[in-house]
Amino acid sequence: MIGIDYSSKFSLWLAQGCCSAGSIAKQLADYESCHGANDGTYWFWFELLWRDYFRFLHFKYDKRLYHSKGLSKLPGNQFDSEKFIKWSSGTTGESLIDAGMRELKKTGYLSNRMRQIVASYWIYDMRGDWQAGCAWFEYQLIDYDVYSNQGNWLYIAGKGTDPRGGRPFNVAKQTQDHDRDGIYRQMWLT
Ligand SMILES: Cc1cc2nc3c(=O)[nH]c(=O)nc-3n(C[C@H](O)[C@H](O)[C@H](O)COP(=O)(O)OP(=O)(O)OC[C@H]3O[C@@H](n4cnc5c(N)ncnc54)[C@H](O)[C@@H]3O)c2cc1C
Repeated sequence: MIGIDYSSKFSLWLAQGCCSAGSIAKQLADYESCHGANDGTYWFWFELLWRDYFRFLHFKYDKRLYHSKGLSKLPGNQFDSEKFIKWSSGTTGESLIDAGMRELKKTGYLSNRMRQIVASYWIYDMRGDWQAGCAWFEYQLIDYDVYSNQGNWLYIAGKGTDPRGGRPFNVAKQTQDHDRDGIYRQMWLT
């Protein structure tokens, strides 16, 4: 979750229209035919598929994706401004969440893992309104992309197409798995 090399950072360029997913996929295929495929090239291609998927989701469901209940039968949680201030300013008291929300505020960027963790925390631990979280990301992200942002928030909130329902993350486990030594938290909290 630290540094520039753990992922491609193509999202910024894609969101601004500086390059297309097609041109990246073509270069990936060229690379694979020259050097062979590996786990990294497979997963990178797989991530680009997610991006496409969320675009097609919008063609299919259009405005329904912007209702509080999304494609599900139940509406999201009620908006609570006090909770929202704590979450968005990185002052919840949960160190991994606070580090992530401060990174987002300072840089306009967050790894996919941290986006999932802070979104889940907002929806499931703080019982927050998923649409408010989604709007905060829209306001903060330098790679903001309406399809990917809305699609991922719906997915985590269990209001998209996933038949398994929502995606709650266990913060203690995520902290143990991804920041056991506390380096990430130290970086953004001090
Ligand atoms: C709650 C939430 C909100 C998000 N909002 C946005 C957003 O506004 N704009 C945005 O571009 N991405 C968004 N994402 C997806 C993902 O987090 C970023 O695309 C990724 O972290 C960008 O870093 P990268 O380019 O180094 O990704 P890499 O891991 O290198 O992936 C390569 C490319 O694949 C695509 N991609 C990767 N993961 C996803 C994903 N989960 N969904 C859709 N496309 C993906 C992106 O275009 C990315 O540039 C969101 C994810 C979550 C969980």
